[in-house]
Amino acid sequence: MKLAMIGFGQAGGKIVDKFLEYDHKTGSNIVRSAVAVNTAKADLLGLERIPQDNRVLIGQARVKGHGVGADNELGAEIAEEDIDEIQGAIDNIPVHEVDAFLIVAGLGGGTGSGGSPVLAKHLKRIYTEPVYGLGVLPGSDEGGIYTLNAARSFQTFVREVDNLLVFDNDAWRQTGESVEGGYDHINDEIVRRFGVLFGAGEVEAGDNVAESVVDSSEIINTLDGGGVSTVGYAAEDVDLSGGGGLLSRFKGDDDGMDDGLDTANTTNRITSLVRKAALGRLTLPCEIDGAERALLVIAGPPEHLNRKGIERGRKWLEEQTGSMEVRGGDYPTETPKVAASILLSGVHNVPRIKELQQVAIEAQDNIDEIRQQSEDNLTDLVEDDEDELDPLF
Ligand code: GDP
Repeated sequence: MKLAMIGFGQAGGKIVDKFLEYDHKTGSNIVRSAVAVNTAKADLLGLERIPQDNRVLIGQARVKGHGVGADNELGAEIAEEDIDEIQGAIDNIPVHEVDAFLIVAGLGGGTGSGGSPVLAKHLKRIYTEPVYGLGVLPGSDEGGIYTLNAARSFQTFVREVDNLLVFDNDAWRQTGESVEGGYDHINDEIVRRFGVLFGAGEVEAGDNVAESVVDSSEIINTLDGGGVSTVGYAAEDVDLSGGGGLLSRFKGDDDGMDDGLDTANTTNRITSLVRKAALGRLTLPCEIDGAERALLVIAGPPEHLNRKGIERGRKWLEEQTGSMEVRGGDYPTETPKVAASILLSGVHNVPRIKELQQVAIEAQDNIDEIRQQSEDNLTDLVEDDEDELDPLF
């Protein structure tokens, strides 16, 4: 699947940069165009791979290149005011060559949190291609204002995109490591998961043919219908030296015994990876029962892929989700690894979102209370008790 990616804010830009690195390393060709939008000049300068011409600094008149300091209402206002500047960069994207737009942002901050829903609304009005969001939730140790920002942005972003893919920083923090220190590692995890998924459908002519290839329309159909999505992933290293399929083909005349064993191994590996991916840590942890649609993608060397494994994995996913709309397929890669990526779309049972909203409401009440008290407190401080002093003017 070919995407036009727009990284909004610092996290968004860094993650799109990582997707470019992933494309370069794996030859995936997922990112057809990459744009970064920010109110902070330093963040744009810090990017490594997004072309200079595709870096858009907005809000210069308002914040002079210094960012919006976690004020996502200001982030949204600036995005509205400077939407033509963003559109200027998007005009350079050959939109007829992309399957969809993907807006990437951290929802806890200011620029991406406020600006992303504004941009999604704008793109949907102009283009017929689907507009997806990849929203990153803050860690629970980041504090009330980040949680409040994320909860408000999440609500708005879901409404404005065709589907919101979510990644929860909190679930991915490593023990003993602050979220801040772990962003590099977390960003790698993000691009690996979404990379395997979006890599489907990018098999070039002349490449090895897989057993039952997934194409972009299957990703689009799974995301179609909207709502919130999460992704599961599991991988296992395999031997590329032909220990599997190739060897057994040479020995093909001994009743096919080895072939049978190999097929069973390949099938078992795939079904166990599917279980691990679905029941392990999802990008947004949630109950998979009740997911409306799902897509199973198996990537790996062709001799380690087989239709039976995918079919079994697909059936198992149908049982676990209770969904009648579970698609599945594979695509060949040259890496010595078989990977299962599962997209669960239209998930509803997400305790983490409810918890986020609860903390956000408490933070909002707290902020309101402090603001109300602030004037009285200041008066108390500044005025002398007996009102004996007069101000200068
Ligand atoms: P903005 O520049 O104002 O949009 O804000 P940031 O993107 O800096 O931060 C928004 C939120 O994104 C933070 O609260 C963090 O939760 C998260 N965040 C910041 N940088 C990264 C990053 O590199 N990776 C990930 N996964 N999350 C990040």
